[in-house]
Order: sequence, then C-alpha cells, then structure tokens
Amino acid sequence: IRTVELCKSYTNFDVDTLALNHINFSIDEGEFVSIMGPSGCGKSTLLNLLGLLDTPSSGEIYFMGKEVSKASSRKRAQLRREHIGFVFQNFNLIDELTVFENIELPLLYQRISPSERKRRVDRIMERLQIAHKRDFFPAQISGGQQQRVAVARAVVTRPKLILADEPTGNLDSTRGREVMEMLVQLNELGTSIVMVTHSNAASDYSNRVIHLFDGQIVTENLMKNQ
Ligand code: ADP
Ligand code: ADP
Repeated sequence: IRTVELCKSYTNFDVDTLALNHINFSIDEGEFVSIMGPSGCGKSTLLNLLGLLDTPSSGEIYFMGKEVSKASSRKRAQLRREHIGFVFQNFNLIDELTVFENIELPLLYQRISPSERKRRVDRIMERLQIAHKRDFFPAQISGGQQQRVAVARAVVTRPKLILADEPTGNLDSTRGREVMEMLVQLNELGTSIVMVTHSNAASDYSNRVIHLFDGQIVTENLMKNQ
C-alpha cells in the first residue's frame, strides 16, 4: 500500500472538516502496522480509504502496485472481496445468518466449493473456540464471541491484507491476547495487517506504529522487539 498526498474532507451543513491532511506513507507486503492517535484524528477515515470503502477528496492510493482510489465501485468491491479482510469494532455480522453462515459468506462470494467451505469454516471455528456456537445467531452469543466470529470471517479467505479497527476493543485481556496472537500468526504467514487501536498492549504486537494527530502523521516508530 502506498498513499500520496492523501486528503479527505467531509462537508456537513456547510462546515468542512479536513479529516486527513496530505498523508504519505507506504506499507510493505508482510508488515504489521498500528495506527494510533486521539479520537477524531482520522483513524477510521484512513482505514475506510485503505479498505476501498470510501474515496479520497484528493491524492492517490496504490494497492498491489495499482492506483485504486479512482477505480469504479465494482472494481473496488472486487479488490476488497479478493484481497482484503475487515475486522471492525461494530462487527457488521448479519443477524439473520448463523455463526457458521456468517463466516462462510466471503467464501460463497469467491465461489469456493461447499466441501472446501465447510473444511475452512470448521477449522477457523475450532481455532477461535466458537465451534460450539456454530448454529447460533449473533444476538444469541456474547460480544467477545461476536468479535471472534468477525475475526474468523475476515481471515477465512486468507486475504493479502487485514484491516482491523480496535480488534481487541470489546474483549477481556485473555481473549484480546488470543486475537492478537492469531493476527501475529497470520502476519507470519505473509498477511499484511493495518490495525487501528488505542491500546499499547495491542500495538506492541505490531512492527510499526503510525501516530496521527489532526489528520496528519506526526511520528512513526519502529518497534525493536520484532
Ligand atoms: P477517529 O477514527 O480517529 O476517531 P475519524 O476518522 O472518525 O477519526 O474522524 C476524523 C474527523 O472527521 C473527525 O473530526 C470527525 O468528526 C470527522 N468525520 C468523520 N466522519 C465524518 C462524516 N461522515 N461526516 C462529517 N465528518 C466526519
Ligand atoms: P472510532 O472509535 O475509532 O471512531 P468507530 O466506532 O467509528 O471507530 O469505527 C467504525 C468505523 O468504521 C466507522 O467510521 C464506520 O462508519 C466504519 N465502518 C464500519 N464498517 C463499515 C462498512 N461495512 N462500510 C463502511 N464503513 C464501515
């Protein structure tokens, strides 16, 4: 991923907010990067742009060598489906689908065969200790379990890039550590990860921290422990 002079502004009731102000950085394949900063500094906006969920006001985003910010919404949807896994704070689980079906969904979009879908979903449910909830609906399981379903759904396609917004936000420290250790394992297998977090315990697992303030990058730290 590379951004060049990336800007995003929102206009509401004639008031302009410059949420991202000329952001330049690159993230290499296989990196694990945390984005930190106070509330309102632009973290979610940046994650939405990197996830091709939204388009910048100006500037460029390169993904796997191609400029993608001006791609059609169909093309962006295709890139998301094939290469990006999302773990958002509010989960975005589908209420009418069971745990199994929620995790299976991205594999359906990729037209993976039923037997292979079952194999992959079963395996990730085992690893995240949610297999016993496979036929439950999201409203019937705890917040921590919903979080693990969201993580399972994000990683079941083995995406090149995982975008995570506070992936440990709703978890106790043990479950939080399990989710982070799983992200580390995926990262070691070659998946790039960009994570927004307020938690130093979470950012300690990454190998680089980008600090945002008022829509600008203020510092970048390389972690020495990894
Ligand atoms: P963070 O994720 O760091 O809390 P956000 O990216 O959500 O920050 O927000 C950055 C700035 O953009 C804030 O000032 C916020 O109020 C503003 N903002 C975010 N989304 C919208 C929107 N849809 N409309 C107007 N302003 C927005
Ligand atoms: P923060 O506490 O950092 O502000 P939020 O609770 O706002 O974080 O994080 C969720 C963000 O991700 C919101 O800006 C929300 O609009 C966005 N988001 C989550 N899921 C989706 C989605 N499927 N499509 C578009 N935006 C999404």
